[in-house]
Amino acid sequence: QAIGDTMATLSVDSLRKEYEDSTAVHDLSFDVKDGQFCAVLGPSGCGKSTTLRMVAGLETPTAGHVYIDGVDVTELAPGKRDIGMVFQNYALYPHMTVAGNIGFPLKIRNTPKSEIGARVGKVAELLGLSALLDRKPKQLSGGQRQRVALGRAIVREPKVFLFDEPLSNLDARLRTDMRREIRTLQQELGVTSLYVTHDQVEAMTMGDKILVLNDGRLQQFDTPKNVYDHPKNLFVAQFLGSPTINVVEGEILASGEFKCDYFVTEIDENFQEGRAWLAFRPEHVEFHEPMIPCVRLAVDNILSELHGHEYIVQGNIGSATIQSRSNSSDVGQHWFVPTKLLHCFRG
Ligand code: ADP
Repeated sequence: QAIGDTMATLSVDSLRKEYEDSTAVHDLSFDVKDGQFCAVLGPSGCGKSTTLRMVAGLETPTAGHVYIDGVDVTELAPGKRDIGMVFQNYALYPHMTVAGNIGFPLKIRNTPKSEIGARVGKVAELLGLSALLDRKPKQLSGGQRQRVALGRAIVREPKVFLFDEPLSNLDARLRTDMRREIRTLQQELGVTSLYVTHDQVEAMTMGDKILVLNDGRLQQFDTPKNVYDHPKNLFVAQFLGSPTINVVEGEILASGEFKCDYFVTEIDENFQEGRAWLAFRPEHVEFHEPMIPCVRLAVDNILSELHGHEYIVQGNIGSATIQSRSNSSDVGQHWFVPTKLLHCFRG
């Protein structure tokens, strides 16, 4: 049997976790399809790990169900769920060799020695660890250790991979390399994956889908592109993107226009009258005189930062700071012109 023969849909239905004084996860439902990679993204404390741990069987849900391949596994022990897990701290056995660590899940299931050897060999080859099989974890670099932890999760050929911030302990350069490695490997193996991270770049670059959580509640579940281009609410809009999206507070008038202290503009969406926030991304701010009459922001306190390939230029309108990504730091007339006023949000 080849690694990755098994594929499975992971379904989470109305999953809820209450602690004595708080609710960590509120009635969360989502499906990760066969072979898909789903990133669970949100700030610290939003319920990501709790969700993952309930899927793994390490935490008992207060309510709701988890299905793998259509089978309700909510009551099953972790070892019976056919999942492979990779954590932030690699949790390798220090006294065992690389081969011993990778083969451990097979050994405790009484797999014949010859089969363990063959499967460990194959996984080690896949992960570029073949030359290191006799080493102990302390003789490895951080990236190599994380690869061993990956190998241990893969070797059993699980139906689902669960990752809990697996790259947080690595330096920036290695994180970039490893995130590509994990993604490539996951695609090769085609194993359905749930990947917890607070890093929007990881979620954006790795996920087929991103599930955005805040305060234990689902904010949006969509492709990275849709989450970025069409955020469902202000939280999602502000959580993804660097520099952060520009936001101006104002109100929707009876005419349907958006009005704030600095300008009035038409918006595409239909909104009821009342308080609202208009948002536009830094890459949609230019400095030239607008071709068509539109919003023109008179900014002061202009500050520009060279980031090598571009400038981040910021300016103030009233108390709001507006940022622009630009090829030039030459703001000219001191006007910022949003070329796309994509998003309008209610409180
Ligand atoms: P994240 O992984 O997004 O950082 P967690 O899932 O670890 O968030 O935690 C979600 C919320 O649940 C947090 O407010 C946290 O304080 C709370 N929490 C987690 N574990 C426990 C526990 N054993 N008892 C009480 N509260 C907990």
